[in-house]
Amino acid sequence: MAEKEMKLIVDGKRLDGRKFDELREIKMEVNVLERTMGSAYVEWGNNKVLAGVHGPREFHPKFLRDPRKAILTCTYNMAAFSVDDRKRPGPDRRSVEISKVISDALSSVAVLEKYPNTGIDVFVEVLQADAGTRCVSIVAASLALANSGVPMKDLVSACASGKIDGEIVLDLMKEEDNYGECDLPVAISPRRGDILLLQMDGNLTREEYTKAYNLAVEGAKKVYGMQKKTLLDSMVNLEEGE
Ligand code: ADP
Repeated sequence: MAEKEMKLIVDGKRLDGRKFDELREIKMEVNVLERTMGSAYVEWGNNKVLAGVHGPREFHPKFLRDPRKAILTCTYNMAAFSVDDRKRPGPDRRSVEISKVISDALSSVAVLEKYPNTGIDVFVEVLQADAGTRCVSIVAASLALANSGVPMKDLVSACASGKIDGEIVLDLMKEEDNYGECDLPVAISPRRGDILLLQMDGNLTREEYTKAYNLAVEGAKKVYGMQKKTLLDSMVNLEEGE
């Protein structure tokens, strides 16, 4: 919710000059870390997020193992220097929540039955945060998991929309998230048509909600196209390197 008043739309344009339905600039890369099974780095506007995958490995403690499938766990962490005020290191309620929503989303698409009794650990490090980090983290984690070779039924893509100065807009940046009226992050697996995350912080009318939801899904589909291209390009690079 708005902390104090701030004009977010001036002469029909957003503060960073974007149109209402325009994404921030996005760059993504996979295979960026040597000591992981899979990794990805995503820059999305002023967000910078690194994801790494460990496993499948033997799960401990033994009594918590699942003989039918792997247990996928995600750890989302914001670096102390990722925000303006130094963020207190270590887990807090917000990071526990975001870790859970990422692991739930990934567990819906990963073929975990292939690795019974094991654990797959996905680590997400937010190096720089500028709103929407849960969406950026889902996108990076999904890329890192695909890069690790764990079979997946689909990739997970994500994007947020929201309401600022009475208008429904795509992909809120920090000022819009801080002073806007609503934030609506959505994650989808487009091939299967599943919604894997839907959260809302703020208030919308029914009509506004429908508009914002459709806008976020369209944004996530665009990001999905970028994710697929990034993975395909990385395979071409691999072949050329051989
Ligand atoms: P998301 O990053 O998914 O939008 P939130 O809505 O909880 O999640 O956070 C919005 C933004 O607020 C973050 O992206 C970050 O820029 C900022 N933020 C979050 N936690 C902190 C914190 N502890 N200190 C300062 N800024 C923070």
